[in-house]
Amino acid sequence: MAARKARALSSLEVTLAVLFVLMTTASILLIATRATDTCPGPSPPPERPPAFLVGAGRADCTGPPAELPLMGYANPGQTAAGIHTRLFSRAFVIDDGRRRVVFVSVDVGMISQRLRLEVLNALRAKYGQLYRRDNVVLSGTHTHSGPGGYFQYTLFMISSKGYLKSSIRPLVKGIVKSIDIAHSSLRPGRIYKKRGRVDGSGVNRSPHSYRNNPRHERARYDADVDKDMLLLKFTDADGDGIGMLCWFAVHAVSMKTSNRLVSADNMGYAAYLMEKHKDPAALPGQAAFVAAFSSSNLGDVSPNVRGPRCVHSGLACDYLNSSCPDGGTAACQALGPGEDMFESTRIIGLNIFSKARELYAEAAEEVTGSLQSAHQWVNMTDVVVRLNATHQARTCKPALGHSFAAGTTDGGGDLNFTQGAVEGDPFWDGIRDALLGPPSNATQECHRPKPILFSTGEMKWPLPWHPEIVDVQILTVGSVAVVAVPGEMTTMAGRRLRESVGRELRSEGAFSDVDVTLAGLSNVYTHYIATYEEYQVQRYEGASTIYGPHTLAAYIQKFSGLARAIARDRAGSLPAGPEPPFFQRNLFDLLGGAKADGKADNATFGEVLRQVLPVYRQGDVASVTFVAGNPRHSGDVRDCSFASVEIRDDDAAGGEAWTLVHTDASWETRFIWLKDSNRRSNATVEWHIPGDAVPGAYRIRHFGHYKSIKGLRPVITPYQGTSDVFRVTPGFYRR
Ligand code: ZN
Repeated sequence: MAARKARALSSLEVTLAVLFVLMTTASILLIATRATDTCPGPSPPPERPPAFLVGAGRADCTGPPAELPLMGYANPGQTAAGIHTRLFSRAFVIDDGRRRVVFVSVDVGMISQRLRLEVLNALRAKYGQLYRRDNVVLSGTHTHSGPGGYFQYTLFMISSKGYLKSSIRPLVKGIVKSIDIAHSSLRPGRIYKKRGRVDGSGVNRSPHSYRNNPRHERARYDADVDKDMLLLKFTDADGDGIGMLCWFAVHAVSMKTSNRLVSADNMGYAAYLMEKHKDPAALPGQAAFVAAFSSSNLGDVSPNVRGPRCVHSGLACDYLNSSCPDGGTAACQALGPGEDMFESTRIIGLNIFSKARELYAEAAEEVTGSLQSAHQWVNMTDVVVRLNATHQARTCKPALGHSFAAGTTDGGGDLNFTQGAVEGDPFWDGIRDALLGPPSNATQECHRPKPILFSTGEMKWPLPWHPEIVDVQILTVGSVAVVAVPGEMTTMAGRRLRESVGRELRSEGAFSDVDVTLAGLSNVYTHYIATYEEYQVQRYEGASTIYGPHTLAAYIQKFSGLARAIARDRAGSLPAGPEPPFFQRNLFDLLGGAKADGKADNATFGEVLRQVLPVYRQGDVASVTFVAGNPRHSGDVRDCSFASVEIRDDDAAGGEAWTLVHTDASWETRFIWLKDSNRRSNATVEWHIPGDAVPGAYRIRHFGHYKSIKGLRPVITPYQGTSDVFRVTPGFYRR
């Protein structure tokens, strides 16, 4: 017992001793830790200086929001009649001390050759040789709700009422201004990159074509559209964000062919949200932060994610040719995800923005290295394509197939064309032959199996109907390669091109971890670029692949050549190729000037025709209608507004003071212009009051110009109108 007690005591002592040692050690460690905290210790390795000079700029490029055809659906009745959101050009200038590159994303349907040439001319006049054909990329977001009329080839002039100076001028000025701002804001900065997947924002609208690609190739991908977004984050030397630029493949056609309001569509709304997120107090288009959402290989990607249905029966459309028994092609329409097109635009734009916001916050991989740019002009009607060691083929003079006239499930044609036509239609071929002449045998043979509707390469009056000379261009920023594609590549076409360019860039070892992205609708518009296999099926995208079945192979060859030159640091010595034409004569304008405005005898411009209600709840739509002039009389409408929503500052000393809350660029406002047959017009300004609108007293204003004839002279007079004051009260927000 005594012995056991002794052993127990001994145990206790051991335990105490261990505790003592532990506490002493802890104290020493604690002292040691405190000592480290208070002393500076070894200094961290010096941070690498910023890799680049970076600058970002944004400028309004909205054209006349009235009477001009909207560019995209080729629907002659779809002319502008107001503004939902404004159009902007967003430019990024990057300099590595040795070279400089410029990337511009513009809220337009596509960049036309004419637009690019006019921008390059303006840049040369201002900057000499600093900004050139080889180091400036212009890319369109593919909104189908911007004014057309900025093309020099006949087909596009016909579909947009000619070459319209009033349309191309604001585009050129807006694009150049965005580059000016980026240029003058150049400062030491860093670029970070991040990739991520955007779900629920695009579906393949020609799965029948896609499935004609080889099975083993399709098996490498988990989806029939590319869902990746590549984002570049731009910061100054202190790490403060100055902008972001991302590429994502989806058609900006959430706004349908029935829309008449100028709109930047889903991609523009994503940019709008990102700029608002970074600078909540700024009005739209005035944030310090520049967020650009650039197009990519969106050729067969629709944002109308509920997919196509027959509008009358609600049943599925014919899978092969996307038509309906009751109403043909026009009745097969893809819709969703929203209940109407505004709602769909909002949802898709919000999805894309949300992913960009996340990628921007997470982007930590710094892009370093040097800049390169490679550019060539190529005659796309005459490229010899090496198919394999023994076989070669050629591209063709441009031509559109019958299924081009069918349109797509995002906006179908009204005539009896359907997609997937591999045989001509005697009726339409007869009309075509009588009016425009038949396609030559050589062109028919070259485009097989495409039945040719318009042999545009053989139509030269009054000017060529389609371009022959096309830009191919690649910019590299460290390990990021931007391939500027002169049209709309389908998903699989884009994948093949990215892969080939990546392989060539890696071939010399300098670009081992290169990220290749495609910038769609760049530099010159040549419609679609489908794969050879997709072309065989002749849905809309194949019928619109204008240089024939080997168009993609020719582009892969040409772009691979540029990539090889970049990999060998020899891009500067590439031959420029044949210069594209800049037509001075035979451009035509079918729109004409805007006529003088009519009005009722007792009316005055700006007078309210239909007044606001005295009270609205959050979530309601406030609306007021004014006697208006034609918005075309307002001339260059960039950086101004046709409408405003203002809140009364009830605490203001010395009377009423009003603060601007929204302009016509705001998502929440709609400026809707309507003209009757007597040239009398009115303008309705709607304010879709958000659920978080500050309760208070508001008014809505409208600004415009009207044209009258005094003697024989036209006179343009500014006017404005103001609604009654109304109150917004807290309400049940019903979205
Ligand atoms: Zn398109």
